[in-house]
Amino acid sequence: MSRARPFDWEAVLDALSAQYRTGDWRVPYLRDHAEDPFQVLIGTILSQRTRDANTDRASRALFARFPDAASLAGARPSQIEPLIRATGFYRVKARVLVATARAVLDRFGGQVPRELAPLLSLPGVGPKTANCVLVFGYGIPGVPVDTHVHRIANRLGVVRTRTPEETEARLRATVPERYWIPINPLLVQHGQNLCRPHRPRCDLCPIARSCATGRAIRSGRAPPRAEDAVPRPPKKRTRSAPARAPVRSHRR
Ligand code: SF4
Repeated sequence: MSRARPFDWEAVLDALSAQYRTGDWRVPYLRDHAEDPFQVLIGTILSQRTRDANTDRASRALFARFPDAASLAGARPSQIEPLIRATGFYRVKARVLVATARAVLDRFGGQVPRELAPLLSLPGVGPKTANCVLVFGYGIPGVPVDTHVHRIANRLGVVRTRTPEETEARLRATVPERYWIPINPLLVQHGQNLCRPHRPRCDLCPIARSCATGRAIRSGRAPPRAEDAVPRPPKKRTRSAPARAPVRSHRR
């Protein structure tokens, strides 16, 4: 009986690094990308349900006045609201940010924790935010799973999951730890460019041969279903439908 070959993360990460010119993904993350862990924490909470451009604008305004746990913990939500308005839900977020800063100050002496469990105990912190702090704040292996990572991991066929939380658990259980850190930045880039939610450009994709969806589409089969994470299979032609290749948009 033949056994399925393990997924080649090495080749996929190499191909995505080359595609998006990010440099060698093997370089320890903090050498080139060190960020303040507190600002990663607060910025990731701010980024919920908004665009990156809004998060960037609000983060710059917020950190210009409240750059650390001590200053933000002493703020009133009404002082925060106008600074983060662009991100939406700004009243709720302002209260959460102050509560998070107070918890970091009171329970952890102003130092953002370096482990998942205490991070997850902070107000407003879910699995994605906690993993972002590990990876982008400390360079500690973690797997932040947002909608891009969830969708692409399912399209690749490395998981079959319904939620980002399930995807994180499966990736942690099955992917060697040395690949965890580059997965998020590279798959997010890929999700914003070629492997978009709708009409992914499988025809231009440098990892199509490693991808279950890409291979299925190339061979004219319906892609494997993974709930809402994969593109819809091409519609079946009826006799009266105009003759055209049903998977053309993926193969061009
Ligand atoms: S082949 Fe298509 S579905 Fe697979 S990773 Fe590339 S763009 Fe995404």
